[in-house]
Amino acid sequence: MLIVSKFGGSSMADKTAMVRSANVVISSLPKIVVVSATYGTTNSLLSLINTAVNNSWKSVIPIIEAISNNHKEIARDLNSSSDTLEGLELLLDELNTFAQGICLLNECSPKATDRILSLGERMSSLLFQTALTQEMPEKTIELLDARKIIKTNNSFNEATPIPSEIKKLCSSLDLASNIIYITQGFIGSNDENETTTLGRGGSDYSAALIAEGISADKIEIWTDVAGIATTDPRICKKATPIPELTFKEAAEMAVFGAKILHPTTLTPAMRSKIGVFVGSSYEPEKKGTWIRKQTDETPLVRALAIRKNQSLITLSTPLMLNTHGFLFEIFKIFNDYSVSVDAITTAEISVSLTVNNDVSNHLKLINDLRTLGNVKIEKDLSLISLIGNNINHTPGLAKDVFNETQGVNIRMICQGASLHNFCFLVSDKEGENVVKSLHKKFIEGKNIK
Ligand code: ADP
Ligand code: ASP
Ligand code: MG
Repeated sequence: MLIVSKFGGSSMADKTAMVRSANVVISSLPKIVVVSATYGTTNSLLSLINTAVNNSWKSVIPIIEAISNNHKEIARDLNSSSDTLEGLELLLDELNTFAQGICLLNECSPKATDRILSLGERMSSLLFQTALTQEMPEKTIELLDARKIIKTNNSFNEATPIPSEIKKLCSSLDLASNIIYITQGFIGSNDENETTTLGRGGSDYSAALIAEGISADKIEIWTDVAGIATTDPRICKKATPIPELTFKEAAEMAVFGAKILHPTTLTPAMRSKIGVFVGSSYEPEKKGTWIRKQTDETPLVRALAIRKNQSLITLSTPLMLNTHGFLFEIFKIFNDYSVSVDAITTAEISVSLTVNNDVSNHLKLINDLRTLGNVKIEKDLSLISLIGNNINHTPGLAKDVFNETQGVNIRMICQGASLHNFCFLVSDKEGENVVKSLHKKFIEGKNIK
């Protein structure tokens, strides 16, 4: 069986986590292992960039030192070879040089950001090669630069991969031999071989793209929880792992906020019909979650997701009355700025739509929308989703949802477009409590049918 396994940041956190993950590799024997940066490193690199842009070199030094010490400590704990130590030094030199450049210029382009962020995955993969080589001396563990296979467009920070190119480049890999490849998640390169990244959490997506590229039979996502749960276990202690769910349900969960999977991960898997398993590298013996085309059970509500920090834009104008093409004008503006709209409702003379994050970052977009009508913006909202089956054909669901949310101001409701999702918007302050009470009502104590 041809397997691609991905290990997230917590599975790479230190020597113990790396050895534990290496043992997961020994039991499942993937052909390609995709790794994230060590725990917290991508955040540290982003804070380094921010500090270097806005402050003096003196304030950057402690951040570089912390990143450097953390990786050197793992290298030492693993008794790394002089080659690995030299390789790590080279990557740390690269970090230092880029950080100095940003600090001198007081600016960092999206292209430079990606180059710096790539160092997180490039360092962790180098260290994991050592861990795996020590645990599996009988195998050849080869480090593969993901930028040689993950071809993307030029949209630095949020690049779009090109699956046909990836497939072509994957054909150079030796899939029949004793080799196990280790490669970096999250990073790729454009046609000029400049480093790009796939967006935060993008290592899951990398694994799925590579699995598609080599026509794998299975993608394994090894993380810090034993599978996809009925809701984020950090929010609701009573959340329990879901043994199996469909591609469609899992995709809704990922898109609507379940951080456990990067939202686009399932696209290549669905397209190429590759089964996805999500499990814990801490407790690999636990059952985890299988994501498949079909499942035995199809419960009405399988899970709840929450997407915080949403903005609601309401555009109103009497010009909308009895005209056509107005929505086209609105969406054209969103398209011009490559901003994606998640939920939408329309009324006689107004349209409300939600976008991710604080929309005040998109001043030009807002100004363009103002040329069409009156624009009102509400921030700090949470989009709550009930994810399951036959949702838009089940009488009484909305009544049950709103019974549980009495006293909560619901800013928008989206229902009807999807068989698998019913979502509504509340304030960030109320979001987690709403999830807890809906979890109690729809999931706890019920045998999922
Ligand atoms: P990794 O670094 O392995 O990619 P992430 O932090 O990106 O891990 O994703 C795992 C985290 O996702 C979990 O620790 C959990 O808090 C969060 N999460 C959000 N929603 C869910 C869910 N429905 N089921 C399980 N975990 C979830
Ligand atoms: N290291 C990247 C991030 O933290 C990618 C990933 O972990 O999936 O976003
Ligand atoms: Mg992740």
